[in-house]
Amino acid sequence: MKLIFLGPPGAGKGTQAAGVSANLRVPHISTGDMFRNAVNNKTPTGVEAKRYMDAGQLVPDSVVIAMVKERLSEPDCANGYLLDGFPRTVEQAEALEGISAPDAVIDIEVPDERLFDRLTGRRVCKACRGTYHISKLANETVCPVCGNEVYQRDDDKPETITKRLQVYHEATAPLIGYYEAKGKLNRIDGDRNLEDVFKAILASLE
Ligand code: ADP
Ligand code: ZN
Repeated sequence: MKLIFLGPPGAGKGTQAAGVSANLRVPHISTGDMFRNAVNNKTPTGVEAKRYMDAGQLVPDSVVIAMVKERLSEPDCANGYLLDGFPRTVEQAEALEGISAPDAVIDIEVPDERLFDRLTGRRVCKACRGTYHISKLANETVCPVCGNEVYQRDDDKPETITKRLQVYHEATAPLIGYYEAKGKLNRIDGDRNLEDVFKAILASLE
């Protein structure tokens, strides 16, 4: 199964993608996580990507496409993939058609006014990468799953969030129509609890 997860920042793509990839036994490939790793390791890609990420802008298509192409050629992708955060532009989607076209697209939809609160309240675990909303944490700096430290991503600051939502509507939202026209789009209402969204995604794939 080759799957794409589409949706605005804060829609819950990362959380749902982790669960669905385990369920379907295909690798969860998050371009955002790949870039954050590259930034931490100070690789050439990371150094280039950082200035775009900090500004809430997209990393140039050529850089992202090369990175994803290489990742999809690895042996664990032989039975499929779950792409989270890619494609984000029509040019990236066109490139993916030439590399390995998806079977289905999950579009998780959440209204903008809900996204802002979700993103400003988001915390990420340094160790297990789990993401949580601050309102659900007993201790604001401790991961409820593994006990390590949780932090706020640099791009989850209010100024950057506004920019990211604008970029989403301009560059990424056109992909909804793009995949609808191919008959591959599954629309999911993401403004519900995690469990209900998860069930809806699995049901849409049956
Ligand atoms: P979000 O929470 O916005 O979905 P991600 O973790 O997916 O965030 O991505 C963080 C940042 O990494 C983006 O704002 C962007 O700068 C960069 N990035 C990730 N995926 C892509 C992509 N497919 N194309 C361009 N830039 C990307
Ligand atoms: Zn953790």
